[in-house]
Amino acid sequence: MKRKYRPGDVFNELTFVDYAENGKAKFMCSCGTESLKYIHNVVKPGRTTKTCGDRTKHPRTSVPAYSTVHSRVIALYGPAADYLCICLCNRAAEWSYEPGVGGNATELVCPDTGKRYNADLSMYYPRSVKCHKAVDKKRRILRKRLFGRPDSTTQHPVWSDPDEQRVRSTG
Ligand SMILES: [Zn+2]
Ligand SMILES: [Zn+2]
Repeated sequence: MKRKYRPGDVFNELTFVDYAENGKAKFMCSCGTESLKYIHNVVKPGRTTKTCGDRTKHPRTSVPAYSTVHSRVIALYGPAADYLCICLCNRAAEWSYEPGVGGNATELVCPDTGKRYNADLSMYYPRSVKCHKAVDKKRRILRKRLFGRPDSTTQHPVWSDPDEQRVRSTG
C-alpha cells in the first residue's frame, strides 16, 4: 500500500499515528483517545469522522459544516446546471445563497474561508454566473444605501462542480 500519510498529519481533531489493516489507521484524538478509523472517512473533505467519536468529550453540534450544506444542496436539488436561472436569462451554473434583504439570524460563517452560508436549504437558488454576479452587486449597493453598511452576503457561497462546468461550456 502506498504510504501517503505520516505520523503527525492532522485531520480535524484526529492526528494520524500509524497505518493498520483493512484500510484503517490509528489516530490520536485531541481529547487523548487513540482509536482505529477508516482512513478515507477521516482524510477526505466533508467526511464525517472528525473525532474519536466519544460524544461525552465531543458533543454533537447542531451547526453543519459548509461542505456538509454544499452536499445537502446538491443531494436535494441536483446540480445547478439542471435548472434555468431563476430570472430565466440562461441555464443556471451555480447555487446561490440568498438570505433576503434583512439578512438572516441563522446565517453561518465558515471558520476556514469566512464564507457565509445557511443550513436552511430553501435559501439556495440556481443562477447563471452572470446573473449571480449582477444580483450580488445590486444587493450590495441597495443594502449600503438602505442600511448604511456593506452587504453581509458579499462572500456567499458559489458552488459549482466540474460536471456543471462541462455542461456550461458545451451547452
Ligand atoms: Zn476524542
Ligand atoms: Zn439570470
